[in-house]
Amino acid sequence: MSAGFFVNEALFPHHHSVLPAQRAAAKAQQPCVLWFTGLSAAGKSTIADLVEQGLHRAGRHTYLLDGDKLRTGLNRDLGFSAAARSENIRRVGEVARLMVDAGLIVLVALISPFRAERDKVRALFAAGQFIEIHVDAPLAVAEARDPKGLYRRARRGELRDFTGIDSPYEAPVAPELRLDTAALDPARAAQQVLDWLSGRPLDGAG
Ligand code: ADP
Repeated sequence: MSAGFFVNEALFPHHHSVLPAQRAAAKAQQPCVLWFTGLSAAGKSTIADLVEQGLHRAGRHTYLLDGDKLRTGLNRDLGFSAAARSENIRRVGEVARLMVDAGLIVLVALISPFRAERDKVRALFAAGQFIEIHVDAPLAVAEARDPKGLYRRARRGELRDFTGIDSPYEAPVAPELRLDTAALDPARAAQQVLDWLSGRPLDGAG
């Protein structure tokens, strides 16, 4: 699916006059993407939601891209084969890039199991703009939570290519942040992200 790229020689992108740094300055913030990766039920959506609430309360301009929700719209044509998952990650990465370009702090909650695909997304962004957050829970913990009953169905063979069961999860080697959700409750995990962010300049376009 991702192999069929071509360059359209008839495309001449217009030079746009309002630059990303100007859009960021208008929002008085430094745009970035907070990329939450981890097993299903590790806590990505829960923690991303709490982080967005915290940023919103602080007056930041944010948007939360949730992998499950995107699969009902933009990505509804994609399944869970390795090729479809790669395309899923690529599309979400491109959308996040547009939103960062628009000046937003973008939160992405997406299993995104493959290291190489996440690294390709990272390469779309300027240094420091892609913040990889490993929402880390051992499989046994995620499986015990199983809020949507997906692990149970995967174990019964009703769901194929389920990450952690019959499809691999490649943990980040050097994420900007790792949240141990077996030890931290969601509020404390979210606070760790907010604390980490407050240690870097959020104001201005620098
Ligand atoms: P994901 O987006 O990674 O699939 P969700 O956030 O949808 O995960 O679901 C995680 C579930 O686990 C939620 O029901 C949440 O309340 C629960 N949970 C229990 N402990 C934690 C924790 N420490 N961190 C995050 N979620 C937790």
